[in-house]
Amino acid sequence: MTGPTQPLLSFLGAAGTVSGSRHLLEAGRQRLLVDCGLFQGEKRLRLKNWHDFPVPPASINAVVLTHAHLDHSGYLPRLVRAGFRGPIFATAPTADLLDLLLYDSAKCQAEDAAYANKKGYSRHRPALPLYDERDVGRVLRQLEPVERMAWFEPVTGIRCRGHDAGHMLGSCFYEIELGDPPVRLLFSGDVGRFDAPLYHDPAPPPPCDYLVCESTYGDRNHAQDNPLEELAAVVNEAVDRGGMLLVASFAVGRAQQLVYLLRTLMGSGQIPQLPIWLDSPMAVAATEVFRQHAGEHDFAEAIEAGIVGNLSPRDVQLARSAAESKAINAHDGPGVIIAASGMMNGGRILHHLKRRLPLPETTVLLAGFQAKGTRGRSLQEGARFLKIHGREIPVAAAVRQIDAFSGHADRREIARWLSPLPPPRQTFLVHGEPAAARGMADHLAEMFQWKTHCPAIGTRFVLE
Ligand SMILES: [Zn+2]
Repeated sequence: MTGPTQPLLSFLGAAGTVSGSRHLLEAGRQRLLVDCGLFQGEKRLRLKNWHDFPVPPASINAVVLTHAHLDHSGYLPRLVRAGFRGPIFATAPTADLLDLLLYDSAKCQAEDAAYANKKGYSRHRPALPLYDERDVGRVLRQLEPVERMAWFEPVTGIRCRGHDAGHMLGSCFYEIELGDPPVRLLFSGDVGRFDAPLYHDPAPPPPCDYLVCESTYGDRNHAQDNPLEELAAVVNEAVDRGGMLLVASFAVGRAQQLVYLLRTLMGSGQIPQLPIWLDSPMAVAATEVFRQHAGEHDFAEAIEAGIVGNLSPRDVQLARSAAESKAINAHDGPGVIIAASGMMNGGRILHHLKRRLPLPETTVLLAGFQAKGTRGRSLQEGARFLKIHGREIPVAAAVRQIDAFSGHADRREIARWLSPLPPPRQTFLVHGEPAAARGMADHLAEMFQWKTHCPAIGTRFVLE
């Protein structure tokens, strides 16, 4: 057994998988949780959301959030429902995005539960949501905004400082100091890419004793294609096929990037003028959050340069209501429909898929990472049928994928980001499927001779 004064680090999620990011730091009697993500994707993972939290939520003193994506934040309402009452530290844009993402998550869960009850296909009777809007309201009241590059003390004896991770609006990686003599940790959160459209490059990482690093694409490199050229090729091919280009996109970040790039291509004549529908109330609301935090990204410059307008109806047709969404069905294409969710687990993309997947003139574009067990991954792997709302929908559409949109650094980019660091005492690879985490660990060991480890879920390390 370890004494109470030795700091401990526990991997409660995103170990050997890309979702459920939850890292617990314990120093003396203090407990700090870094990220509080939802398990997503395969059913065996989603079921983990229903397990009791490994420590009593009321015993956690505070949470620090790297960014608003649900795989890092989406368990917070459940944690609060189970008794967590401490502050939740996040940047102001992250807090604004949480307001959108967590309410949407609660709504999706209520809808899924209601649908399962109606169709009777849930094993639980009645099927229940993991949390509801009241829990989300509590989370939002517990938020404490923090500035990047400013030290703060979320719990007594643990100091934190956020740096721009370049992964999405508001995203940070965290430098954390605790104990005496101080141990220094670095939590990468999700690391963005260099020269990505809209976002800044990830900031240089400070030296650390222990590094906890993501490895989503740790076993491969993205094609070094220009996202603009790749998108132009897919759009032009879709126009030749004659039908709609259906883009499965995250509503926050990716949808704004896509509109920005499509408008850029139309402006330069690389693709024809096409109608674009942004069929997601959340994407429309998220665009407003982007505008409120214009200094965070390159969007303001793009608007100023006249490359895109303010996502006004002139640029893109915004479908907020269900009626506006259904009205898109009357159009045959060519045109572009951007709808969530990005991995096709839910959202309006499902209705478009139901209608258009059986049509050979349709093109479906996967514009982001597709986790195991999602419909997006099935399509990527060549599925001939896709199960939607209990029905098998035949796939006659062309399916295309563009990696260049990924919000995650690949193996080469993670190594580039980490290259200025002196060797940490230990590097833990998290947030990757097993082959990816292993790939990143081997790459860092080979390139920098670093000591690396891929922790299993539930493991605990003494920080010396
Ligand atoms: Zn993320």
